[in-house]
Amino acid sequence: MKVENSAGFDTVCIRGGHENESNRAHLTPIYASSTYVFDTAEQSISVFKGDEKGYIYGRWGNPTINEAEEKIALLEAYRITNSNGNPLKLKAILHSSGMSAITTMLLGNIKYGQKLITHQSLYGGTHELIEKILPGLGIQSVIVDFHNLEKVEDVLRADNNIGLMYIETPANPTLQCIDLEALSSLGKSYGLTVCVDNTFATPYLQQPFRYDVDFVMHSTTKFLNGHGTAIGGVLIGKDIDKMSGPITKTHRLLGGNSNPFDAFLLTNGLRTLGVRMDRHCSNAAQVAEFLSQHPAVATVNYLGLPSHPDHKTAMRQMKNGGAMMSFELKEGFDAGVKFINKLNMCTNAVSLGTCDTLVSHAPSSTHMGVDRQQRLMFGITDGLIRMSVGMENVEDIIGDLNQALK
Ligand SMILES: *Cc1c(COP(=O)(O)O)cnc(C)c1O
Repeated sequence: MKVENSAGFDTVCIRGGHENESNRAHLTPIYASSTYVFDTAEQSISVFKGDEKGYIYGRWGNPTINEAEEKIALLEAYRITNSNGNPLKLKAILHSSGMSAITTMLLGNIKYGQKLITHQSLYGGTHELIEKILPGLGIQSVIVDFHNLEKVEDVLRADNNIGLMYIETPANPTLQCIDLEALSSLGKSYGLTVCVDNTFATPYLQQPFRYDVDFVMHSTTKFLNGHGTAIGGVLIGKDIDKMSGPITKTHRLLGGNSNPFDAFLLTNGLRTLGVRMDRHCSNAAQVAEFLSQHPAVATVNYLGLPSHPDHKTAMRQMKNGGAMMSFELKEGFDAGVKFINKLNMCTNAVSLGTCDTLVSHAPSSTHMGVDRQQRLMFGITDGLIRMSVGMENVEDIIGDLNQALK
């Protein structure tokens, strides 16, 4: 089904990427089939040569997976025009997880002896990947404060082995926000491949391709799926030949393909992305306001509050402050533990982007095993609570937080 370029975001969410199905099913079914049949040897030749469109083998492609990919590509390109004034075309490849999408992107773009430049506050798994796996493949990482453009430029000028710039914005734990326009143009001026993890923002709040970046990744596990029903990831690129050629090859050979059941759940979630984000974000703004007035709370890290150091950058490149926040309890570690235990409704769980509000106290959960000094260096202070604000009625969320803070 073709959606017009003038169609609204929610229309694209609902209808984009859908193709009529041969048995006239309204929704694209879960194509649980690992391989596809050819009528003749000649047909197999033309499908293999790419002259005829067709599926061959499940690791290479599947109709249920394809629908989710097309939808995400349309959403990331939503109302962006390229330098010729034509609508931007993107290609998305669905993966088994966010980590898998990031791996395909990295290994598809940097080789032995090359380096990447990135910043400190990355998703934990990404950080470990570049620290523990890439060096063994001869790929080193340079970590610089991306708020300091002069420093970034000094590093780029001094080291021409740096081939890739990796950005995650906004990022844990304090919702740091990186200026996409400034960093991308600096990276491009030194010939780097620029990539952005857009998981926290989603294309509804932020479209990195507006700033000329080369690749965007998501953990679809989070807001894109939106219901916490499947792990998944997606890699999106604007160089269609590169995406269809070497990146597709890397994806297929590394074997991080998605599966039709998870892709079906993802497509179902994507249909309500815009509507869900509106509710997530308006709830988050009210929760942040409430917390910032509360006497037990020392600080609230929410991009929609003018007190956040990156508020201005966020308002330039994001539609609003988003649905993620963290806050610091005045009484430290014990207060964090007590608060989590007193919650009646909000769920104590890691991950983010589900309909229900998720709350976690990193020092007593994900970062329990990390040395305190190191954890503090990452900004994970003793009383830090991370919160993915859900879509419940906001009075109920605030009511639960209020009684747990007593
Ligand atoms: C969750 C997450 C990832 C990893 O995604 P998985 O689906 O868990 O593999 C990467 N980046 C960010 C920002 C995330 O939140």
